[in-house]
Amino acid sequence: MAMPGLFYSGSIEVVCGPMFSGKTEELIRRVKRAQIAKQKVQIFKPAIDNRYHDSDVVSHSSLTVEAVAVKSSMEILAKVFDSTRIVAIDEVQFFDADIVKLVSKLARRGCRVILAGLDQDYKGEPFGPMPHLLAVADQVDKVAAICTVCGANATKSYRKRPESNSDQVLVGESDVYEARCRHHFDYFDERQELPSFYADTTMTPEKNNSSQV
Ligand SMILES: [Zn+2]
Repeated sequence: MAMPGLFYSGSIEVVCGPMFSGKTEELIRRVKRAQIAKQKVQIFKPAIDNRYHDSDVVSHSSLTVEAVAVKSSMEILAKVFDSTRIVAIDEVQFFDADIVKLVSKLARRGCRVILAGLDQDYKGEPFGPMPHLLAVADQVDKVAAICTVCGANATKSYRKRPESNSDQVLVGESDVYEARCRHHFDYFDERQELPSFYADTTMTPEKNNSSQV
């Protein structure tokens, strides 16, 4: 409960990264800390993500907190109570573009908004509303997984069978995806021509000089 005269300054935090990077665990960690401090928290997730359990945010390590599945960002707005201090949203990449306005509105109202989601899809493209969310956020944490090929930090979600589905992400995972570092994320190598800036590795010093003039 807000103390008289106590001003709550709203904020937007984004935790993003590839699959298996512990995004949801980090969201849950932040939520649980707030709950220990008796702050009122509401947690949402898109209705599309129904792996494991319908009403829980479930991370891969089975650390769970109760979450409400919603079909649109406007549904979140309708369900947030005035007394809610923290709004957490998991798998935020699946929401419509209105999510950007929604989280800004909640932050303006004094809410601390905590978002977790994939920053890139399996092609390495920015995922849904994530670029905008990252831009308006007050705090961004990119978390990395471990590359299944070399053990380096992995920032990409590699789809092992890209032909199996044309969706941006198949929900329900580990057999279809693995975390890869940039070097071992070779989606584009097999399927399309490399962008031209990768192509010319045979430049002679003469050419280099002339291009600088
Ligand atoms: Zn690697």
